[in-house]
Amino acid sequence: MTKRTFLTTILGTVGIVAAAEQLRRFKSHTPMITDTNPVTVRLLDGAGTLTDPITVPKVVKSDDTWRLQLTDEQFRITRTAGTERAFCGIFHDNHKLGLYTCVACGLPLFRSDAKFDSGTGWPSFFQPVAAENIGSTKDTALGMARTEVHCVRCDSHLGHVFDDGPAPTNLRYCINSASLLFREDGVKTAREKVIFGAGCFWGVESTFAAVKGVTATRVGYSGGTTKNPSYENVCSHRTGHAEVVEVEYDPAQLSVDQLLVVFWKSHNPTTRDRQGPDVGSQYRSAIFFTTPAQEAAARASAAKLDASGTLRGPITTQIEFAGPFYAAEEYHQKYHAKHGGYCPVPL
Ligand SMILES: [Zn+2]
Repeated sequence: MTKRTFLTTILGTVGIVAAAEQLRRFKSHTPMITDTNPVTVRLLDGAGTLTDPITVPKVVKSDDTWRLQLTDEQFRITRTAGTERAFCGIFHDNHKLGLYTCVACGLPLFRSDAKFDSGTGWPSFFQPVAAENIGSTKDTALGMARTEVHCVRCDSHLGHVFDDGPAPTNLRYCINSASLLFREDGVKTAREKVIFGAGCFWGVESTFAAVKGVTATRVGYSGGTTKNPSYENVCSHRTGHAEVVEVEYDPAQLSVDQLLVVFWKSHNPTTRDRQGPDVGSQYRSAIFFTTPAQEAAARASAAKLDASGTLRGPITTQIEFAGPFYAAEEYHQKYHAKHGGYCPVPL
């Protein structure tokens, strides 16, 4: 190879890489999917059993809002269709038994029993937990025809699927670790957390603080689009945050189903953005779950209550994977315990 040919080859390669990078940047400002209709997925209940397919809202957030929740690397991979370096992710060599969920919306995606050592340096699976939970698109970046895969609920990019995997599917889902969270089987967690919005957080906190098995409560703000909001910011209705209570509990003493009974009784989940005299989106009914089992329990109990005919209208409760929780000002913490009084349950 002459020096000139060598330089031409190098410059050609650089050009291809630059073009691919340019395409990636273009994609980063172009939503992969624009469909915001509800989607059909399967969840996993507390026993690890797949639920029947259910319809859930699509999770749609602005890039700025995703950045509040995700690390820079998670954002780059999931929202801009990036790829982590081979052998550098945290799960390619993970051999523990457990469940991999979407890092952005908590949807169950893969189980360890479908994971295999592909030698590629990326976590590899021969099938997802449920075919419904994975979406795909044709990807022609880098001059190759590949099949891109993403979380069907939030469109987070996961990786690609190839047809050179092992039996029984002969598929290889080549997934970025940064797109996943992992929950190990059989590990007893001393404490779990769930976040509830049910109107004025003073009253909601006093309700849950009195439940046996609840080990800590904090009032704060969740579900919005701004960082570190103040009470005044949230009251302005411009931050999108709900007044919420972070409930920490001992799962050995208290189940999420028992907490959900208290939650549904503590407020009126049918009045959208309102609890009695308190009006505004910060007073909306909301469950921000932190585990797949909590989500399955929340959606099952909401469906059961809706079908019971005991409510005056359909449930409006927002059920979503917990993003950032911002503790409220000290003045609002344990307000009723410190100052007395109570918030009547709005009917
Ligand atoms: Zn997702």
